[in-house]
Amino acid sequence: MGKYAILRSYLIYLKNLGIEDLPKTPSIERFLSEIKKPKRFIVNEETLKEEVLNCAACPLSQTRKTAIFGEGKLSAKILGILDYPRRDEELQGLVITGGYRTMLQRLLQTVASNLEEVFLTHAVKCRPYNDRPPEDEEVLACKEYLVKQIQMIKPKVILCFGSTPIKSFLGTEKKITLNEARKTTFNFEGIPVFFTFHPEDMAKNPQVRRLIWEDLQRVKECLKKESS
Ligand code: SF4
Repeated sequence: MGKYAILRSYLIYLKNLGIEDLPKTPSIERFLSEIKKPKRFIVNEETLKEEVLNCAACPLSQTRKTAIFGEGKLSAKILGILDYPRRDEELQGLVITGGYRTMLQRLLQTVASNLEEVFLTHAVKCRPYNDRPPEDEEVLACKEYLVKQIQMIKPKVILCFGSTPIKSFLGTEKKITLNEARKTTFNFEGIPVFFTFHPEDMAKNPQVRRLIWEDLQRVKECLKKESS
């Protein structure tokens, strides 16, 4: 029996004897202060992954084949957040696939000397049916996992691609466009958060490449300051 259980039984025993008040002796004060200490929130990658894979917190769990937890090392300096998995990502169990993966890797090389410095994940971990954009409630339901991943990785910088992560960080009430969000550096638990376009936007409109490049220069600057 642990010491809290022993104390509880002892207090019940005293209460049964009619003793309801105890003097605040130094040992009782010490004991109470120990109880009040907040427990450190420890996130374990395997447990969190298991939670995500078995999650049924939003309707996407009914149509997904699998959830995509993320790729990379927990020691990553940069947390790259994409919007949500599409068909190919779900089939291959990757955060991003094909030509867009190559494009993203090239973009990341602007800010990371080594791709091992980047952990990739999605704002929404399950593929919406027919690859439609996720509903606001689905983004909010999945936010808890994103927050736990941030707390686990503790990156120096968070870099978001596409519009969906805006809702995870800035909420769904105000409709903030990607063009507005990318002009400001936000902050989440002391970590700078940047928004830029998804590689898919770049494929649709080659002029977006220049805008992403500008955004990545700001990220690079920020990383430089962080390490100096
Ligand atoms: S999208 Fe997120 S919240 Fe919804 S079922 Fe998948 S893991 Fe759970």
